Amino acid sequence: MIFRQLFDNESSTYSYLIASRKGGEALLVDPVLEHVDRYTQLANELELKLVLAVDTHIHADHITGLGKLREKTHCTTAMGAQTQAECVTTYFSDGEYLKLDGIDIQAIYTPGHTDDSYSFVMPNRALTGDTLLIRGTGRTDFQNGDAAAQYDSLFGKLLTLPEETLVYPGHDYNGMTVSTIGEERRYNPRLQVTNRQAYVELMNGLDLDNPRMMDVAVPANRRCGIDQAA
Ligand code: FE
Repeated sequence: MIFRQLFDNESSTYSYLIASRKGGEALLVDPVLEHVDRYTQLANELELKLVLAVDTHIHADHITGLGKLREKTHCTTAMGAQTQAECVTTYFSDGEYLKLDGIDIQAIYTPGHTDDSYSFVMPNRALTGDTLLIRGTGRTDFQNGDAAAQYDSLFGKLLTLPEETLVYPGHDYNGMTVSTIGEERRYNPRLQVTNRQAYVELMNGLDLDNPRMMDVAVPANRRCGIDQAA
């Protein structure tokens, strides 16, 4: 399996390039607009055919590369059925498998950070978007965020995965790249709550500034990062 974690310095976003083998079909998760050329170059170097690009949710802190990637490579773009992004080629829903040669990857609806948040689960590893971060969880105070829904996504879905499952988040601000479900269950301070209400109070007590790019990024990402102005 080819699995590459790519980093955007500006927004501390991780993007992922995934394929079953050299010469095979590839998937990009959460591409950042400014790095589209880097992704396509890497895919070419690894002799991969980029067939699908997806976002875990509508991002507020960077502009997505979905639209530009589709223009450049004619790949399919997809997001969850709950998204307000109307620009993608197709939508996936909870439990659906993304169609990719040799790759077994399931979309799991994990709302809470936003109401369109998905995680992607493969054997032994999960891309958890901004639902589960390393020693943290995604904020729930904008974009139809919902701390109670996030509790259910975490405790009812992601934390039910096997302990040794590798956790690859959508961001990291502290230099961490990968964790495991068991490690997060034990050491993630947000997950040490006894019930849903305690989690809601914890999340509602966070007093966070809005992301610098939010006013630009959210409307742009509803258009897949493509500027529709003539
Ligand atoms: Fe986010």
